[in-house]
Amino acid sequence: EVRTQGKVLMATVKGDVHDIGKNIVGVVLGCNNYEVIDLGVMVSCETILKAAQEHQVDVIGLSGLITPSLDEMAHVAREMERLGMRQPLLIGGATTSKAHTAIKLAQGYSQPVIHVLDASRAVPVVSNLINPDLKPAYVAQIRDEYQRLRDNHAATNTPLLSLEQARSQGARFDFSDLPHPEFTGIRVLEDVPLETLRPYIDWSPFFHTWELRGRYPAILKHEKYGEEAQKLFVDAQALLDDLIARKRIRACGVYGIFPANRDGDSVQVFTDESRSSVQTTFHMLRQQVVKEDGTPQWSLADFVAPKGSQDHVGGFAVSTGFGLDEVVAAYKAAHDDYNAIMAEALADRLAEAFAEYLHQRVRKEWGFGAQEQLSAEDLLEERYQGIRPAGGYPASPDHTEKQTLWSLLDVEARTRIRLTESCAMWPGSSVSGLYFAHPQSKYFGVGKLGRDQVSDLARRKSLPVSEMERWLGPWLAYDPSRGS
Ligand code: SAH
Repeated sequence: EVRTQGKVLMATVKGDVHDIGKNIVGVVLGCNNYEVIDLGVMVSCETILKAAQEHQVDVIGLSGLITPSLDEMAHVAREMERLGMRQPLLIGGATTSKAHTAIKLAQGYSQPVIHVLDASRAVPVVSNLINPDLKPAYVAQIRDEYQRLRDNHAATNTPLLSLEQARSQGARFDFSDLPHPEFTGIRVLEDVPLETLRPYIDWSPFFHTWELRGRYPAILKHEKYGEEAQKLFVDAQALLDDLIARKRIRACGVYGIFPANRDGDSVQVFTDESRSSVQTTFHMLRQQVVKEDGTPQWSLADFVAPKGSQDHVGGFAVSTGFGLDEVVAAYKAAHDDYNAIMAEALADRLAEAFAEYLHQRVRKEWGFGAQEQLSAEDLLEERYQGIRPAGGYPASPDHTEKQTLWSLLDVEARTRIRLTESCAMWPGSSVSGLYFAHPQSKYFGVGKLGRDQVSDLARRKSLPVSEMERWLGPWLAYDPSRGS
């Protein structure tokens, strides 16, 4: 029997499907002689805490990709406090940060709560926490650091425009030359060949997944990481060849183009070109942060023409995650963690490639992209007209807008891609978003939101303000628990 250094329990929280970073952390800890109990994705608080008791773990690690998971993590921390648990809590995943951990999580639990930036940090953090000689000084140092972050946060006050002022400073575009889509309505894509998608893969994020920072192809020649990057790349091509040849995962999706007009900060989608009946409404947010550079207070709504113009918006949802669970399970059963993680990383790349491929196709079908002649690099640099902002990303941080997209395109029935209770897409390797055609449409971050805008959004969406505040938690410029 091998004596391990300690036991670490890891889970991606309820409602979230993100896995790769956590899996890499698990492998790294395992290689350093820690016993890792990985509960997988979409794990409820009860399951996590029960398993922690059962296995008598030393440390608990929570992972999350999307903003609603921050709330779920706070819930787990509070539950651990309520139950008098003693294990340190580690926090990781794309949406997490040291500041958020300090401000929103650490005060809910009297034991250490520590943000772990990436897998390379996991071993030192865990070993400091498990070693009784090192732990007190380490924990004291973290507590000081997090207290400073909280003090800084309390002292900063982002100046905001009122919603009314922000609206008066929105962008005003010319809509006199609108393109005519060759179709309106919905199209379904079943089983798009993976070799069609392969040339659209953006490889830089692939290396980021493996924590090699740099850009492809330069990274292959990097002084320090070049050799490692080349090896990863060769292995990736071999697995990709196999996934394609044996059709081990499937690509399917749905998209649509619809008559639409702006209505305030919302976008109405009509049932047909007569534009007499509203099928659904997307509710956009607007920048309220005071800007010094004279640019407009952006909102996605500004990219759509008001009533009276024959404008359109589109939407899409694509996935290359079907079949992936089986592929990953087969590698795990063969104790091949490397290829298990590689398969997930490749499926993620193919999903983004699918989104890029489909966007190009839609620009042609919409007319304005018919003459487009772009290289693979041009595509990855997004040197084309129009954008495809994703729900939950900075230009449209409200994840619940995906529910509207799902019903408009009937995504679940048509593709089997579904939304979890936190509006994460399942399976994991899925991408969705809206299409905007206007030549001046661009990505931006909505930034911090005032109480007036959150109330206004809640009214527009017919949802309680408190529910909207929960979904938009990290974007609020105010503390919803305080009256003013
Ligand atoms: N080539 C990249 C593409 C994904 S990142 C890859 O393979 O990973 C770029 C995408 O993220 C955009 O196409 C858009 O869908 C989304 N995105 C980026 N910035 C955004 C923003 N500010 N608001 C909303 N969506 C954004």
